[in-house]
Amino acid sequence: MSTEALVPGTLLGFRQFRIDVQGELLPLHVGNRPWRPGTTRAVCVNHPEHRPPVTGCTCGLHAWHHADDALSRDDETVVAAIRAHGRIILGVHGLRAERAEVVAVCLPARWTARRREAVAARLRSARPDLEIFTSARGFRQRFPSEDLAALGVHTRPTAHARLRRAVHLPWVLGVLALYSVMVWPPAMERVLTGGGWVALLGAFVAWQAWLVRQSMDDDA
Ligand SMILES: [Zn+2]
Repeated sequence: MSTEALVPGTLLGFRQFRIDVQGELLPLHVGNRPWRPGTTRAVCVNHPEHRPPVTGCTCGLHAWHHADDALSRDDETVVAAIRAHGRIILGVHGLRAERAEVVAVCLPARWTARRREAVAARLRSARPDLEIFTSARGFRQRFPSEDLAALGVHTRPTAHARLRRAVHLPWVLGVLALYSVMVWPPAMERVLTGGGWVALLGAFVAWQAWLVRQSMDDDA
């Protein structure tokens, strides 16, 4: 973390959990206890005398500033919005907090409807205090990232999250362009004879160069 500050108050963050058969939220680190309704308090496993979070240690409850960084990267995890409070150390991409509680969970869109409904039912039964989302878009709209500029911290998603979007958009545009050229022969002719392919190649190379630059620009 390149920027650090201890701040008072409550901050929104995002992190991943697994949901067990009882509908309890388990942190991904082995050995961590489930986050139950109410407040979860950080414990430093390496230095019991620490009051987490401590600068120079890794203790504290970790969360990302941007939901995109926590939106599920595998099939077994869900993303939760948490409210962090107590002592908080801020970084550009995330935070470490003394205490936090889960306020909402977003189930992966790629799960089947049946699986989502089964897990949602388990969650509603074990955690009636939580809002449950089945759409990442709705989740993002309900929980936009905190603006921490007033604290001197300009947060941003990690390169991983930025690149995922940066890859998808040109891919969709490229596919659309390809199909439109194929179904409209005059367009194909214009691309081949008018030097359009040079522009296309140039745009493609620029896009690739931008992706490489972004991927090297991560200080997560
Ligand atoms: Zn510690």
